Amino acid sequence: MKEKIRTRYAPSPTGMMHIGNLRTALYEYLIAKSSGGDFILRIEDTDQVRYKQGAEEAIYKALRCSGLKHDEGPDIGGSFGPYVQSQRKEHYLPYAKKLVEEGKAYYCFCTKERLETLKNEDSSEFGGYDRKCRDLDEKTINNLLSNGTAYVIRQKMPIEGSTTFRDEVFGEITVENKELQDQILIKADGFPTYNFANVIDDHEMQITDVVRGCEYLSSTPKYNLLYEAFGWQVPRYVHLPLIMGKNEDGSIAKLSKRHGSVGFEDLLSEGYLPEAIINYIALLGWCPEGNREIFSLEELTKEFSVQRISKSPSVFDYDKLEWFNGEYLRNEEIDKFTQHAEKYIQKAINGASLDIKKIASVLHQRVTKLTQIPEMIDFLANMPEYDKEIFINKKSKTNLENSLFCLKTAKEKLESLQSWDFNSIHEFLLNLALDLGLKNGTLMWPIRIAVSGRKMTPGGAIEILDILGKEESLRRIEAGIKKLESE
Ligand code: GLU
Repeated sequence: MKEKIRTRYAPSPTGMMHIGNLRTALYEYLIAKSSGGDFILRIEDTDQVRYKQGAEEAIYKALRCSGLKHDEGPDIGGSFGPYVQSQRKEHYLPYAKKLVEEGKAYYCFCTKERLETLKNEDSSEFGGYDRKCRDLDEKTINNLLSNGTAYVIRQKMPIEGSTTFRDEVFGEITVENKELQDQILIKADGFPTYNFANVIDDHEMQITDVVRGCEYLSSTPKYNLLYEAFGWQVPRYVHLPLIMGKNEDGSIAKLSKRHGSVGFEDLLSEGYLPEAIINYIALLGWCPEGNREIFSLEELTKEFSVQRISKSPSVFDYDKLEWFNGEYLRNEEIDKFTQHAEKYIQKAINGASLDIKKIASVLHQRVTKLTQIPEMIDFLANMPEYDKEIFINKKSKTNLENSLFCLKTAKEKLESLQSWDFNSIHEFLLNLALDLGLKNGTLMWPIRIAVSGRKMTPGGAIEILDILGKEESLRRIEAGIKKLESE
């Protein structure tokens, strides 16, 4: 029987949900789901110093909002719990002690102060720690332990030889064992280090595919030596390429705040849809067969394959994300779009009793980011100051004189229009242009300027007249006439 794929997303609750972490979660989800496997959430909170209040909540929220539903986790349980490392504290020490008994790890009693001084010395031979406690005799160790001397447990790295492993993305990687530090497995506070806990947990939780950022590539030989020491099967490794950002001078650097928002929640509050973010980040490091770019999560699940993950860094392009977002917004059903846009429309119209749905309809095909909305329609609530020169438009063949004529005529005629809705206004104004022997644009341009005060508006004159209603429209046209009549 084919083994069931089990992947885990193992975030440390140390801050917001970085877009790189979300991509890791997404790929883990896709790798599991594309083969009917399980996607597990494990909270790695052993680094109590870096723990941030609220960070766990942000993780749940981001997973929920982006549709990455986990099969096991702290909130829903599962057969391999607990799924929070701080609640698994007692799992780790026995494993570490077993390694000590077998001579594969050792107690280290070096004080913080001593380790500090080592930092200033050249101890690069052992990658940092000078291995002072590696060969203490048993009597000394027992004495120190029974005196209650604080200790850590360190892994005994082989002095010779090399360790080779295969990564599904980066291929075969070999490191010389002598470059590996005798890393700490259990800290003085009794907590395991990430380096130790991730191996124990991945083994106990029967994780088949370890997917994580490529910054962990260099540590992987250490993990493999642990797997080897325990005689456990090494998981498949999938290390993901870096995500870069474009600097102002065109060069690239690891994606950070100076390139733009890097938090999932920040992107949401900037008006991006979760579906668009997910679709875009799926393509940051993975490419489908063919040129298609738009994929729902379900479609990604069908298409995704580890073989098509690239090892070269990908550059986060905010313009491209905006393009995706525009596509998603345009393809939404109008009711759904209205729901998404409502908050932003309300903000712009500031309590004015205008038809939200009508406003949403004119915005629907024109918005690429929801946060653009308030600025696009602020003229609906408050008529902005404008310069009468904007009545002049070459393409519409308008100048100050014919604009004044058009506004006067339109106002007079529109006053008698009984039913004020899009179709009636449309028919009425088109007939009026015909009667006056004018191009439609020559009549519509000054009307749109007069009711919006803007050269560019979402929707044309007719839509805006319909949204504003008869009374307000005529009042604005009258103000436009006054403006054109004044010197
Ligand atoms: N807790 C680690 C992190 O947040 C996870 C690394 C891993 O997936 O093994 O970076």
